Amino acid sequence: MPVHDRAPAAQKLDIERDGSSRPGVSFSDLPGNPWTMLRGDIEKAAFSILPEDVEIRYSTVPTTIHQDEAGVDVTLHDTSAGTSVTERFDLVVGADGLRSTVWSLVFGPHEKYLLRLNYMIAAFQFHGTPLGLVPGQAATLLEPDRSMWVFAYRDHDPTILLTYRTDVIDALGTADELLFDSAEQVRMDRWHKGRVVLVVDAAWCVTLYAGMGVSSGLVGAELLGTLLERHPADVGSALNAWEQALRPYIDHYLDGAAADRKVFVVDNRLEILFRRMMPWLRRFRLGQRIVNRVVRVDEIARYKNVDIVGAVMNGSEGKTVRR
Ligand SMILES: Cc1cc2nc3c(=O)[nH]c(=O)nc-3n(C[C@H](O)[C@H](O)[C@H](O)COP(=O)(O)OP(=O)(O)OC[C@H]3O[C@@H](n4cnc5c(N)ncnc54)[C@H](O)[C@@H]3O)c2cc1C
Repeated sequence: MPVHDRAPAAQKLDIERDGSSRPGVSFSDLPGNPWTMLRGDIEKAAFSILPEDVEIRYSTVPTTIHQDEAGVDVTLHDTSAGTSVTERFDLVVGADGLRSTVWSLVFGPHEKYLLRLNYMIAAFQFHGTPLGLVPGQAATLLEPDRSMWVFAYRDHDPTILLTYRTDVIDALGTADELLFDSAEQVRMDRWHKGRVVLVVDAAWCVTLYAGMGVSSGLVGAELLGTLLERHPADVGSALNAWEQALRPYIDHYLDGAAADRKVFVVDNRLEILFRRMMPWLRRFRLGQRIVNRVVRVDEIARYKNVDIVGAVMNGSEGKTVRR
């Protein structure tokens, strides 16, 4: 199925432990009408349009990477067969996530580039509808230093995100898959070294709180491909141009993560009060302006809804993308 907007129709709720609730503001209310999707939607869509001549090897991990002026030698270990082979490539792209192996083999220890935000996260899929909600209803429970987010979809079970110090609900123990991790950023001065380049979380994990990991990955990959086509005989120039063009946007998401984190987990009751007032404030012009200022609507338009590839290719300032 092609990618589609899974945003539910039901009103999102801000809920409390005592069971009370009030209407809340959801991500799909943000400027630019962002779509609600699952990460797997993007993976499936990307997989379905791969050209036939692209070879995919599963259960295969890189164990050594050595490069010279003309190419990169990579030893690949097949974990199911227990065999290894060394092959030569023009360019190696490390898209193996936070704590990337390509990263540690070429750029050094992870600790050098990781910035810990001091929050733990647990995320999992919930089968059915959480008690007190109607099917397809999103909800947020905010308390200082902890939160629970129920992300709802119109045609899929909800997913739940807990940020630490909350009681872990029973469903977490019976979930098929569970992500439990610390919230980390990756900050690197350079994303490429010779003919090895890192992309997305391996290079610039902006944290889940920025909500820009997948988008920056798609744009970063498209831009990389475009610039490699533009400099077919000069990988170095392509990588320099790519990094220079993308850097301002990624730096913005990285720098904004502390503020974005407050969307997910607030620091104090005053912030909770403001969040509760947001739906009411948005009804008035002044209130809407205050909300826009706090939500940083101008920055969203400039950095998050922008056509980065178009801007780079036209040599112009980015234009906001509107659907
Ligand atoms: C709970 C949560 C919510 C999020 N919400 C959003 C959101 O709303 N919007 C958004 O844009 N982003 C969101 N993100 C961030 C987004 O998921 C990531 O930025 C994105 O998935 C990064 O893509 P990636 O390809 O770099 O890494 P990953 O998605 O982590 O993929 C890396 C791949 O590399 C493979 N791999 C790892 N090591 C090796 C190895 N040695 N050899 C071979 N393969 C290897 C892994 O198996 C995996 O398939 C969220 C993240 C989390 C954790």
